[in-house]
Amino acid sequence: MSTRAQQYDAQVLRREQLSPHLVRLTLGVDGFVSTGVPDEWVGLVVPGQFQVRYYTVRSCGSGELVLDVVVHEVGLVTEWASRDVVGDSVVVTEPKGSFALPADAEWLMLVGDLTAMPAMARISETVDLPTRIWAEVRDDLAGYVPDAAHVTWIDAPAEGTSRLADVVAELDWPEGPGYFWMAGESAPMRAIRKHLMRDRKLPASAYDVMGYWRAASARQPRAVDPGPIYREGKAQGLSDEEIWARYDSAPEEHQARS
Ligand SMILES: Cc1cc2nc3c(=O)[nH]c(=O)nc-3n(C[C@H](O)[C@H](O)[C@H](O)COP(=O)(O)OP(=O)(O)OC[C@H]3O[C@@H](n4cnc5c(N)ncnc54)[C@H](O)[C@@H]3O)c2cc1C
Repeated sequence: MSTRAQQYDAQVLRREQLSPHLVRLTLGVDGFVSTGVPDEWVGLVVPGQFQVRYYTVRSCGSGELVLDVVVHEVGLVTEWASRDVVGDSVVVTEPKGSFALPADAEWLMLVGDLTAMPAMARISETVDLPTRIWAEVRDDLAGYVPDAAHVTWIDAPAEGTSRLADVVAELDWPEGPGYFWMAGESAPMRAIRKHLMRDRKLPASAYDVMGYWRAASARQPRAVDPGPIYREGKAQGLSDEEIWARYDSAPEEHQARS
């Protein structure tokens, strides 16, 4: 464990391509203690970066931590994880979880996109209740979740768009108390929470709906560290606005070299 509180130094031991857009990274990490919450996640800082991205703990034990990382079109971790990263040193933060099954739950419904697959798989491996999953993914991930869970595969449209809000609005709900868990792109989540609360009249304890990522907009985390360009601009006496304009107009190749 590193000297900084609540962070662990880790090393990539193995990298496995599970499907065209999903990469499994096994990290070696000493002293990591799981919360036991099945959707627990860690922050991941990859070499040469200071920005954190969040990943579900797919599994852990015996000094190893497994993260299944989606590689999408561009992205800081995406670009790193697309390469042969075995041997790289990374930092992970202490785990946190959100899944909170009510004691009287008789069933489980899980809805999500590819980024939610690691959590949906771990939840359905861990929780012994009748489980239905709606997964919006482009890759063939049959076998990724336990056989006992009933999976409805939804063909994902182009990256950055999702039909999950419509899927949730049309769900057939089981009788009796249960638990609904969902994660994916942030934009539709507010409407989905409203639907669960107002139309389905679910108490807040009966669902957990999380935005795992944000589709591109003016202010997004950048694919590469803006630090070097910022420092260079400051040294040249540029204003912040001039520096960010330079960064925004720089081609990725230039940004990555800076
Ligand atoms: C609690 C939690 C658990 C998570 N668990 C996982 C997990 O187990 N596996 C996993 O892969 N992700 C997981 N995520 C999502 C992941 O943190 C984000 O997708 C993250 O932004 C990816 O980082 P990046 O550096 O590759 O892309 P970024 O640099 O953050 O983003 C670059 C661009 O890509 C877009 N983008 C980001 N993510 C996606 C995406 N998934 N699909 C399409 N476009 C995208 C952004 O809008 C942006 O324009 C989780 C998030 C949270 C909050």
